[in-house]
Amino acid sequence: MLLSIKEMEVRKLPFAETWEPNGFDFSDPAVTQKGPLVAEGVAELLPHTGGEVRVYGRIRTELETECDRCLGRASFHIDAPIDLYYRPLDTTAGEAEVAIDEGEAEIGFYELPGLQLEDIVREQVLLQLPMQRVCSEACKGICPVCGTNRNETNCSCQPPSADDRQPGVGDDRWMALKDLHI
Ligand SMILES: [Zn+2]
Ligand SMILES: [Zn+2]
Repeated sequence: MLLSIKEMEVRKLPFAETWEPNGFDFSDPAVTQKGPLVAEGVAELLPHTGGEVRVYGRIRTELETECDRCLGRASFHIDAPIDLYYRPLDTTAGEAEVAIDEGEAEIGFYELPGLQLEDIVREQVLLQLPMQRVCSEACKGICPVCGTNRNETNCSCQPPSADDRQPGVGDDRWMALKDLHI
């Protein structure tokens, strides 16, 4: 959906879009859209700002990614307000004059005919995902020795000690194995 600047010159532009599960392209194969994605809000041209646009409202969806620790599925419920400001890209004002006030929200830029709602929604939804995507804070991950998912099975592997990582050093466990085959 195009948020048309021309239309905003006449009136505030409300939007209410819903994408069915897997109906939205996140351009990220690691992300699966499990629930409907809803974006509701208003786009308006702010008067006396030289073309500044404010887009505000709310985004909601359910996403799934791979857990960073156990490679299982990690689910994320996203429900967040958005409040964004955009300026025309070909602004004639000098760099100093477009300096952003302290504390002001980050400013984006647009070109005519306007802003694509999909681009805004994609960026804002992905921003809601945490840096570390885990299935749960308590996820125990995968055993580095045997590869078992430690959430499902408790293996009895000992964490590798510093000695094991040095190649060529005589290893007691290998010695024991040799004895077995004699
Ligand atoms: Zn996990
Ligand atoms: Zn193990």
